[in-house]
This record gives sequence, structure tokens and C-alpha cells, in this order.
Amino acid sequence: MTKQRLLFVGPPGAGKGTQAQQLALRHNLLHLSTGDLLRAEVSAATELGLEAAAVMARGELVSDALVLAIVRSRLEQQSASLSRGEPGPSGWLLDGFPRNLAQAEALEALLSDLDQPIDLVVLMELDDDLLMQRLLGRGRADDNTEVIRHRLEVYRQQTAPLIAYYRQRQLLQAVDAEGSIEAIAERIERLLA
Ligand code: AMP
Repeated sequence: MTKQRLLFVGPPGAGKGTQAQQLALRHNLLHLSTGDLLRAEVSAATELGLEAAAVMARGELVSDALVLAIVRSRLEQQSASLSRGEPGPSGWLLDGFPRNLAQAEALEALLSDLDQPIDLVVLMELDDDLLMQRLLGRGRADDNTEVIRHRLEVYRQQTAPLIAYYRQRQLLQAVDAEGSIEAIAERIERLLA
């Protein structure tokens, strides 16, 4: 596989997490889901988790500085370990980050420091009513109708501008996120070749 530095973008419920996790396993990539990392902090009741919990429960975005610190430390660790010649994944897959333009710009600066440009941005696309169905079926703490509506709204206002941002950089490829997990995985695989 030539493409090994990937971003997954898409509305909540499009199946980013599922696809990202499986793809990372298949290709030995470091999978960084800011949502998962934040939920782990919340469960462990760390200071960071306590700060994030209420914001997450409302379906809003936690502060850029907070998520950026999480992503930065993980990517810097991986890069340092690679340059020491230690075994481990050389590529990565960011899932749920960036979520707005400020995060995208901060990521660009970080990746330029690390000399690790993005190879591909996968946009997972799905109709709103299907998103709603999937999210309501999932039963996560922040998956109730009102919070879901708000998360979709936050996606449209803050995250969707990333589509134009990455399209302009010729990094974006859209995938139809309707269908079986396997069918969608195949569509994504075809983009990586
Ligand atoms: P997710 O699992 O990606 O749906 O994320 C769950 C929640 O975590 C989101 O609704 C946000 O509150 C928070 N979150 C995850 N990633 C980010 C991010 N990149 N920036 C800000 N908040 C985030």
C-alpha cells in the first residue's frame, strides 16, 4: 500500500470508526480516534476527561487545544519511535480529527514539522435519515435524538468546510457509506492502491 497517512472525515454515524479500525488492522496503521481517546479519558475520570465530559454529552466540540495536544503527543511519539528504528506502524489513520478548519491548519503545521504529509482524506457520505437510524441504534451516551441533531448541525457548520479545504489540496476522495461493512471496506481499499 502506498497511501499510509490517512484522514477519515464524515458525519457522525457514517461508520468512520468501524472502517477506520478495520483498515488500520489490515494495513498495520496507528489508529487515532479522538472520540475514543476522549471517552477513555472520561472513563478514567482524568482532569482532561472531566473537562471534556459535559461538552461531549451536549454534542459539541471540545477545545481545539485539548484535542490537538492528544493528537500531537501520539504522532510525535510514533515519529520518534520510528526514527529510533523501533518496530511498529509507520503510517497512521486519524478518525474524527480534524473537526474544524482551525484543527486542520494546526494539523498541517504539525505534519510539516514531522515531515509526514497526508496521503489521502476519505470522506464517508450518507443521507441524514440513515445517519439518524444508525446513531439511534448504537446506544452510546451521546446518542439520543436531541444530541444527535445537534451533532449533525455541528458537523455541517464546523466540519463540513473541511471538504472544500481538502478537495482544494486534491487529497479528498468520497466514498458512499451506504451498504454492508464489507462493501464499504472494499470501496475504501480501492482508494488506497
Ligand atoms: P466521535 O466519537 O468522533 O463521534 O466523537 C465524540 C465526541 O468527542 C464529539 O461529539 C466531540 O464532543 C468530541 N470530539 C471528538 N473528536 C473531536 C475533535 N477532533 N475536536 C473536538 N471534539 C472532538
